[in-house]
Amino acid sequence: MTRVRTRFAPSPTGPLHIGGVRTALYSYLFAKKHGGDFLLRIEDTDTARTVAGSEDVINESLNWCGIIPDEGILQGGPHAPYRQSERKEMYRQYAEQLVQLGKAYLAFDSEDDIKVWREKSASENKGISDAYNYTTRSQMRNSLTLSAEEVSKLLADKVAYVVRLKVDSQDHVSFQDIIRDEVKFKSSQLDDRVLLKSDGMPTYHLANVVDDHLMEISHVIRGEEWLASTPHHILLYKAFGWNQPQFAHLPLFLKPDGKGKLSKRDGDRLGFPVFCTQFVNPDTGDVTEGFREKGFERDAFVNFIAMLGWNDGTERELFDMDALIENFSLERVHKAGAKFNFEKAIWFNQQYLRNLPTKELVNSCSDEIRKVNASVSEDFLQHYVELYRDRVDFRYRLASAGKYIYSDIKEFDTDTFKKKWTPEAKKFISDYIDLLNNTTLDSAEELEIETKKRIEQNQMSMGNILPVLRILLTGTTKGPSLYETILLLGKEKSVERMCRADYLLNS
Ligand code: GLU
Repeated sequence: MTRVRTRFAPSPTGPLHIGGVRTALYSYLFAKKHGGDFLLRIEDTDTARTVAGSEDVINESLNWCGIIPDEGILQGGPHAPYRQSERKEMYRQYAEQLVQLGKAYLAFDSEDDIKVWREKSASENKGISDAYNYTTRSQMRNSLTLSAEEVSKLLADKVAYVVRLKVDSQDHVSFQDIIRDEVKFKSSQLDDRVLLKSDGMPTYHLANVVDDHLMEISHVIRGEEWLASTPHHILLYKAFGWNQPQFAHLPLFLKPDGKGKLSKRDGDRLGFPVFCTQFVNPDTGDVTEGFREKGFERDAFVNFIAMLGWNDGTERELFDMDALIENFSLERVHKAGAKFNFEKAIWFNQQYLRNLPTKELVNSCSDEIRKVNASVSEDFLQHYVELYRDRVDFRYRLASAGKYIYSDIKEFDTDTFKKKWTPEAKKFISDYIDLLNNTTLDSAEELEIETKKRIEQNQMSMGNILPVLRILLTGTTKGPSLYETILLLGKEKSVERMCRADYLLNS
């Protein structure tokens, strides 16, 4: 079997969109699953669309995600250079080869000529295609309609020309896409696509096919937006007499409501990122934040992206990179577009936060906590993290989630407190203070049992007294286990806070 080799071939036109990340990820997973190679090739032949700094952000994004190429612009490799602008002389030779083989031809029509011709055919409305193709090329100025002498003269006079692929009427194309099954195109849908532009630069089609062949790519995995280009690519492989790779076209990312393709504007409008890592446009200084800057854990982000358009056939949702490599298959990529759901991205983040080592979370919030309260101990930090990690969606929210524990309470829910404060509650709290002052209970479970017993003895309900206790201790009725909170605060501090009923009643 031929070695599996996949590539990610972005054009450097700005930050890396999550659609691009998914293409890179699936290509990487497929290669790694089959013990093959994953390449990064930069397709920068369209200089007008190139945005400075894009290559760096592509590298940074892939690196952050852990999608590390085996060959590419940074790694080098046997097929270097991996940047198409550095290979441009070579593409011209391949275009010439096709002209020699009679599979391509020179077209001297200027853009204006073509515009005039289109307008004329539209006004005559004879039902003739306005595409430059096998039905219309005979009306144009090209090396198929001009004599050899005329062509030589035009070349000697340095008249600009492009090289076009000669698509014939019998060139129906059908191929087996791994995701979409059989895909068919009629020759009437295929124009004589430009391969080499008048400035000598190859188009995407020529450069892409030549490089995929030379770099021995076995599987081309790319977004559905490239499906319409594939028949031309297949014709090119045939024209050169090369074996074609297998194709897998990935479904689009859809807006959250499923209506249309996801765009950057949707992200701006609905308040979520559509890029992987931050991009600062060097020309305008504009900063676009990515998932990384929004605080996402990298494994959560990668897992989220992987599940947008794929599953392993079970209900399982959590896969780290190794599990993705082990379980990934192109056959299980969905045909339908993947609806983007930002809440789901946050859900993944929470799942990963829960599984991170406590030590790592302690490290990420200890500075912020110690800035407010320098005296907190390592034990406190560890207990704090254990108590609050499940209650936050992002790591950066950890320090503030329970700030009332290690600093003064800024706000009290006095309305609820006043409503719930009864003579019975007052008595209960005073007894509870005695309990804490004298008890040796030092586990949350024991404290819970004892508290419930007292509530019963006093013929009270949890609903009357727990809010009172919570507000005294933390300012709010919400939060993690009351008993864990008491232990985290320490009995002394808890008692001190429980003695503030009068202050609350008067504020
Ligand atoms: N340069 C194309 C892009 O920007 C590559 C498409 C392909 O993978 O063939 O996505």
